[in-house]
Amino acid sequence: CGIVGYIGDKNTQEILLDGLSKLEYRGYDSAGIAVFTNEGLKVAKSKGRLANLEAKLEGTPLIGSAGIGHTRWATHGKPSDVNSHPHMDESRKFSVVHNGIIENYLELKEELMKEGHTFLSETDTEIVSHLIAREYQGDIIKAVQKAITHMRGAFALGVLTEYEPDKLVAVRQASPLVIGVGEGENFIGSDIPAILKYTRNVYILEDGEMAVLTKDAVELLTIEGNFIAREMIHVDWDA
Ligand code: GLU
Repeated sequence: CGIVGYIGDKNTQEILLDGLSKLEYRGYDSAGIAVFTNEGLKVAKSKGRLANLEAKLEGTPLIGSAGIGHTRWATHGKPSDVNSHPHMDESRKFSVVHNGIIENYLELKEELMKEGHTFLSETDTEIVSHLIAREYQGDIIKAVQKAITHMRGAFALGVLTEYEPDKLVAVRQASPLVIGVGEGENFIGSDIPAILKYTRNVYILEDGEMAVLTKDAVELLTIEGNFIAREMIHVDWDA
C-alpha cells in the first residue's frame, strides 16, 4: 500500500521507517524493509503495525547504503510475516516491494514452478522477484524490463539486487510513485510526503515509466528503455 526507497550515505533504516510512518494514513496490515548490509541484502518484515517491525529491528538494525520499504494492504495471501514485503527469489539476491496487483500471477507462478522455482508466500508479488532473477543476465535494468513484459495488472515496484548494490530501480504502472532527488542521495516514495523531510525536488513518474537511481544520479526511462527528459518539480508546500 506504500513504498519507500533510499540510496545514499545516511542512515537507510531510519529514512525507510520514517517514510513508512508518513504512509501510515493509507492503512496497512504489515510492514517490511530490505537493506544492503555488509553481509548482503537483508530483510526484516512483520505483520501488524510499524511498531512490530521496529521491535524486530531493535538491537539488530539493518545498516547499509540502500534500501526499500513497504507497508502492505493484502490482496493476495493473508496478512502474515511470510506474506509481508519485501519478497526475494530463492537465491536471495533480488528483493522487491510492490503496490498493486499482478493479475496473471497464477499463470506465471505455475510457469516458474515448472521451471523449478519454489515459493514461500501466497502473494502475487513473490513472482516478480523470481521473474527478475530468471531474466537477469548482468543488467538489472534489462532484467526488470523483461520481467515486466510478462506481467499484467497494476504495479509500483522498488527493486534491489545484490549484484548491483549501487542501483535502485523503480517502476510505475497504474500505481503511484515519485522520485526524490537529493545531493549524494536519492529517494522513491508512493507519495511526496513520504520523502518531503529529505528533499523538495521530485520527479513524478507516469504510467509505463521507470527510474534508475544511484546515489549521485536519477535516470528516467520508459519501460521499453527510451530515455525521458522531464522537468524536476520543486515542492514548496509542507506535508
Ligand atoms: N498484491 C500485493 C500483496 O497482496 C501488494 C498489496 C499492496 O499494494 O500493498 O501482497
